[in-house]
Amino acid sequence: MKVHEYQAKEIFRKYGVPVPEGKVAFSRDEAQGIADGLGGYPVVVKAQIHAGGRGKGGGVKLAASNDEVGTLTDEILGMNLVTHQTGPEGKEVKKILVEAGQKIASELYLSLLVDRESACIVIMASREGGMDIEAVASKTPEKIIKVYVDPLCGIQGYQLRDVAFGLDIPSKAMKQFSAMLKQLYTLFVENDCSLVEINPLIITEDDQVLALDAKVDIDSNAMFRHKDLLSLRDLDEEDPQEVEASKFNLNYINLDGNVGNIVNGAGLAMATMDIIKNAGAEPANFMDVGGGATAEMVENALRIILMDQKVKAVLINIFGGILRCDVFAEGVVQAAKKTGINIPVVVRMEGTNVEEGKRILAESGLNLTSAVDLKDAAAKVAAAV
Ligand code: ADP
Ligand code: MG
Repeated sequence: MKVHEYQAKEIFRKYGVPVPEGKVAFSRDEAQGIADGLGGYPVVVKAQIHAGGRGKGGGVKLAASNDEVGTLTDEILGMNLVTHQTGPEGKEVKKILVEAGQKIASELYLSLLVDRESACIVIMASREGGMDIEAVASKTPEKIIKVYVDPLCGIQGYQLRDVAFGLDIPSKAMKQFSAMLKQLYTLFVENDCSLVEINPLIITEDDQVLALDAKVDIDSNAMFRHKDLLSLRDLDEEDPQEVEASKFNLNYINLDGNVGNIVNGAGLAMATMDIIKNAGAEPANFMDVGGGATAEMVENALRIILMDQKVKAVLINIFGGILRCDVFAEGVVQAAKKTGINIPVVVRMEGTNVEEGKRILAESGLNLTSAVDLKDAAAKVAAAV
């Protein structure tokens, strides 16, 4: 789960990680009120969307006066912000962060993430902060410091020093930096984060360490133990079909192709996507209705896939184990009656009560193409698109 910069900074404050003073605003009046309370100008007006690269896209601007805060708010609120992370369609800005402008001596990069290979939390840092870190990593990888923290031991003093020396933190800021990094590690673990990124982390002209930007991603699989964080979810920023699917416990991820597919079981779903590609077509989604799906879940799955304008044909691949083929077939018939299907649908079904399932589909009067096996199904759906 992603959260906005202003929310990530609230979490930082709770853990004593220093951030500039500031608040979120939804209107011009509100923004100007906040700006006047920050104790002086310049202040910074920052678009809040779930994507980085806002500065380059025109979503982060410096205001020298209250009037300018007003002008910039009018400009940024409601704008369609395009950055390298939003894709060409961009994102509408619905809120802004108004925060105190800082006097920057240097911009650094700092992040914590889960490294699956080493089963560690890796701290990545670089003196080349504030810019495209991907470019630094690919062109000059020696400029990225990596420190691996074993989660069973927790972060050690020498590791804090390794990062601090690697970043060339000025001696006056050393103590503050170490304390901050230790707190960031605690924040990461306690909130089940998958990523915490500060780009840039700045050293101010008076040797203070400050998180100028903040990105926090929380592992969605751990949300059940963070009910307090659920309120930070912003459905406006998420894919509407994925939001709809999550209401029905469907594992759905939107992709770029045009073959919609409905499968029961994540492994079978991965294999089905591979076989669609093998047949020369591209999957439009990952949709796992789960081993124990009900007719209602199948109905919702089909309805959600048909909402997607780019889907030109659907492949339904079901292995009837816990979900019996007859129950599944009833779900398809119900969905088709309610939603209406106006694109080709290929069905491959095997397993418990398969004969009964096939009879239900055949007698439904729906225009479905049946396939004898997976390969046949993929070939038929690829031909259809
Ligand atoms: P993004 O990464 O989405 O572009 P940032 O929050 O990193 O957004 O802001 C982009 C740049 O704007 C920063 O690298 C920094 O130079 C400047 N900036 C951001 N916030 C402030 C601030 N409070 N004071 C001064 N400069 C800022
Ligand atoms: Mg940034």
